Amino acid sequence: MKKLHLFLIASLFCGSSIWAQQNANNIQLGLEKKAQRKNIIIPDIEGFQTLKGDFHIHTVFSDGLVWPTIRVQECWTEGIDVMAITDHLEYRPHQDFMSKGHNHSYNLAVNEAQKKNIILIKASEITRQMPPGHLNALFINDADTLHQGQVDEVFKMVKKQKALMIWNHPGWKAQQPDTCLIYEVHEKLIKEGLIQGMEVMNYNEWYPIVLQWCIDYNLAVFANSDIHGVSAYTYDVKTAHRPMTLLFAKERTQNGVREAIESARTIAWFEQQLAGPEDLIKQLFDASVSLQPAFYTDDKYQYMEFTNLSDIQFSFSNETIGNGAPDKFVLQPRKTIVIRLDKDAESFKVTVDNCHTGMFKNLETDLM
Ligand SMILES: [Zn+2]
Ligand SMILES: [Zn+2]
Repeated sequence: MKKLHLFLIASLFCGSSIWAQQNANNIQLGLEKKAQRKNIIIPDIEGFQTLKGDFHIHTVFSDGLVWPTIRVQECWTEGIDVMAITDHLEYRPHQDFMSKGHNHSYNLAVNEAQKKNIILIKASEITRQMPPGHLNALFINDADTLHQGQVDEVFKMVKKQKALMIWNHPGWKAQQPDTCLIYEVHEKLIKEGLIQGMEVMNYNEWYPIVLQWCIDYNLAVFANSDIHGVSAYTYDVKTAHRPMTLLFAKERTQNGVREAIESARTIAWFEQQLAGPEDLIKQLFDASVSLQPAFYTDDKYQYMEFTNLSDIQFSFSNETIGNGAPDKFVLQPRKTIVIRLDKDAESFKVTVDNCHTGMFKNLETDLM
């Protein structure tokens, strides 16, 4: 009897200790993997750090479909360092549900941006017929006071707030169906220093003529998403990326971003195309790729490794006729290829087909 009694107590004890270890109520199945940021590898250039920006983003507070804090999370997940929420001042189709003023989307997002180490630029989209079309005012203090009847009054407020503007999607067919012209008003605003940049890429469009204007007027080039829906439903964010403005900044701050824009130290990047001033494109190219000395030579050829350390894909046309290398070749992101050249080749001139330095102009360089 006594033995059985002890056995029962022992089993009860064991049983209850098993209950203490196992949880039948609520087991957390680790979502921590979702909170990981994609690292986009784009090297710094001499004296500057490379920042990735998107300066044209909509939320439910204009005609977007996404809440401001989620915009910050999208940018963080996709590897963006600096962003601007640019809700339309003059077009707010959800206004019946959104009773607050024009500063509210920024106010909702700013704390989330701080917690994610994202630089959030306070901004608005001035949304007018052409001319002047659509302009993003960046580094504003108060969006409400930019909502004026006369567009000249808006420009006065932009100036008063020491903000700056970029001209959005100049080649957008809804506003310039058959042409892409720069108007007097834009030239005047450029002269006054109020327009400091233009979008050469917007959403899925690219405007080579606008790149030429930016070079001629010494303005910053921009590639922005102008996103309205969910980013992951719009772009292939896993294996590709949204349009991004690469900034070469002295420091990773609001002032650093502003100084880079005012100095036109930017490159536009989307769908494996880079567009910007030749000196910056050349520096970024040189920091990204390297052709190593020959590791093997036979009777006819020398063999060299050509390496890309960046997430940018480069495509080439060989301009040195009969040097043994292929006429066209591609160097994919973070990859190395073997290049075969004639044994006595002394130059290896190429055009980098995806690096645009003018309207009909590409980077030309000698790889040797
Ligand atoms: Zn627009
Ligand atoms: Zn827009």
